[in-house]
Amino acid sequence: MVKELKFVAVAHCILNRGTRWWIEGKRVEGGIVKKVVDKLAEINIGIYQLPCPEFTFLGNPRAQMTKDEYESLKCYKKHVRKLAKKVSMEIESLIKMGKEPKLKIVGLIGIARSPSCATKCIPVGNGYREGMGIFFEELIRYLNRKGITVLTFEIDIKDLERSTLALKALL
Ligand code: SF4
Repeated sequence: MVKELKFVAVAHCILNRGTRWWIEGKRVEGGIVKKVVDKLAEINIGIYQLPCPEFTFLGNPRAQMTKDEYESLKCYKKHVRKLAKKVSMEIESLIKMGKEPKLKIVGLIGIARSPSCATKCIPVGNGYREGMGIFFEELIRYLNRKGITVLTFEIDIKDLERSTLALKALL
């Protein structure tokens, strides 16, 4: 009998690329990040789609911005906190309500260089440094408060091969 089923929470744009920042002149890319979805299907891990904090705050078109720019944007942090709180409650409910089979969250999958959803590499000032995006920071804080701990990963759209390979650690 199946006792436990695993799932991950993924940045919204992994399943809906159309929410990524866009300005006139940038190539439009819709659809999903298939390599990630295929990898998760291959290892039998379910997907919970997180909301896109930037799109739900600014929509599109919106400019590419750094983490410090988003931090100084009036009310953005408040918006992100509200989303993180709601998501942490939904994830908690998935875990609590799954008695048989149990549902277990095993990871959070973000996007490299995103000011909101990165887990390792963030844009700051004129460059990049190690760090976590604003939304993921808040989400992890809320999840930890509920006693939920998860592994974190980030997908590098420019290096899908390597970043999806790392998802094997979810097994
Ligand atoms: S990385 Fe996060 S904020 Fe950026 S488009 Fe994807 S879901 Fe939205």
